[in-house]
Amino acid sequence: MRRAAMTQRDVPVLEPIVPHVKRVLEAFLQNLSRAGFPFQSADIAAITALDEIYYKSVANNWEFAGRIFKRSGKYFYTSPRTLKSSRESDPGLKLPNVENIGTYHSHAGQFLPTDELVSPKDKLKAELGKDVSYVITPRGKIMKYIPISLSPPGTKPPGSLGHEEVLRQGLGGGASKFGFHQQLFSPRELQKYGDRGDTIKVVQMLLNKRPPSALALLVPDGIFGAKTLARVTEFQTLHQLARDGIVGPLTRRSLFKMG
Ligand SMILES: [Zn+2]
Repeated sequence: MRRAAMTQRDVPVLEPIVPHVKRVLEAFLQNLSRAGFPFQSADIAAITALDEIYYKSVANNWEFAGRIFKRSGKYFYTSPRTLKSSRESDPGLKLPNVENIGTYHSHAGQFLPTDELVSPKDKLKAELGKDVSYVITPRGKIMKYIPISLSPPGTKPPGSLGHEEVLRQGLGGGASKFGFHQQLFSPRELQKYGDRGDTIKVVQMLLNKRPPSALALLVPDGIFGAKTLARVTEFQTLHQLARDGIVGPLTRRSLFKMG
């Protein structure tokens, strides 16, 4: 009798180990930084840095920032820093004995249309610091701003601003120089009932930003539970998507679209 009872108790203790190991592994992979690793170009170094801070930034509603520099023909980025502010970040001082290329920073998770742009303040900072400025927006768009002071002479009419380029389109869709958000989500990645983590927090924040809804606002706790499932299913119904309650590429794209 006693033995049987123990066995029955032991089974449910073992079961949660698999999702637990999965979570620990995910957390480990999320925290792996490639700051200080060499890259072939400044753009690739910046994109890697920005992808690394994206979830942390949106899920916490904090900006993160750092620097891009060149040494011995290779490009690097410094570890991201945060002031734990949704409106400000500090990339740190220029580094000695290297070629300073510029800065990277994220816009936090408010999903405002103005967050999707290189702001006038960003441009001013880039001009003053003679820094190329790389920005990732809450919708995952990556932009590059080259200040007028770094543009080759004769390429800009007097008084014009620097050069602005979209390196990668956001999760709402579209193609660009570095393709379509391959880094942020693999095309087959699904978010479903029972999942946890920063990606779920981002989905919950987006659902809260996408009215109309007959349901209550979600607490962005990063847990895909019954309330999140109800909101996802409602969102899919309103947007003529397959009503499966799973956030896959089509639902994700719809969620991240502007407006
Ligand atoms: Zn900015």
